[in-house]
Amino acid sequence: MKCKKCANKAVVSLRAYKIALCADCYLEFYSRLVHRSIKKHKIFMENDKILLAVSGGKDSSAMASVLSDIGYGFEMLHIDLGIGRYSEDCRRKVEELAKIVEKDLHVVDLRDYGFKIPEVRGRICSACGTVKRYVMNKFARENGFTVVATGHTAEDLVSFYLKNVAGGQKEYAEKLLPRVEPFDEKVVARAKPLFEMSEKENMLFAIIKNLPFKGDECPYAPKPEWKEIVYEIEHKKPGFVKNFLRGLLVETKKPLETKYCSICGEVSIGEVCAFCKIRKRFSKTS
Ligand code: SF4
Ligand code: ZN
Repeated sequence: MKCKKCANKAVVSLRAYKIALCADCYLEFYSRLVHRSIKKHKIFMENDKILLAVSGGKDSSAMASVLSDIGYGFEMLHIDLGIGRYSEDCRRKVEELAKIVEKDLHVVDLRDYGFKIPEVRGRICSACGTVKRYVMNKFARENGFTVVATGHTAEDLVSFYLKNVAGGQKEYAEKLLPRVEPFDEKVVARAKPLFEMSEKENMLFAIIKNLPFKGDECPYAPKPEWKEIVYEIEHKKPGFVKNFLRGLLVETKKPLETKYCSICGEVSIGEVCAFCKIRKRFSKTS
């Protein structure tokens, strides 16, 4: 198989685009797609001070590397969740990544809040999601960042949508937007610069560029049932994820009523925010 652009030996075949490419042409193709998506959907503004949330996985490694290649300035934030060897490995990977992309890396260790994720009982991933959103927002705001970017992929968004629709929930629109503007001064904008890219495309980019990333999953990761359904449809109907996503782009969002947590002062839905409830239950220092 030959590369469609330069006729060298192709190393990747992208069924969604019906093309095969060599390594160099793939890197260029991927960067161009990401750049086009950022411009088209106004994912970053001209004066943004960007903070990238990096977990140590392939998606956030690809995000840091491609944004650096395109020429965006940013700093990175890693949250050490205290999940034993897994977190130690992730932290090492992001430290290597920071050296490669030559950007500042900040690490917030959850133990500084008096607990770690394995000590949380009940729905661990739900609590972990709360913790990550809280720490990202607080860190970004206190350090003058105007937007926090995460490495969410096209499959993340489509599987999230399907799961919620199947569960009869309607409060999903905001999570599907490539950029969410703050509804309050305590909230920092959120962006998903890879929202149109698939996990396979990110993985290929990370492998070809030899980027550091943690290959195996978090020990608490649930079985990705909805993602498997999405992969299966994509397998049978190449291009499904990208087309579906295009149909999903919703422009409107209703403003939320803002309240502040009575303990920490961050934005909250109830009297006490979800983070402080978790911290109160599990922290030894609060
Ligand atoms: Fe947190 Fe691990 Fe669950 Fe991801 S899989 S949300 S890192 S506990
Ligand atoms: Zn709080």
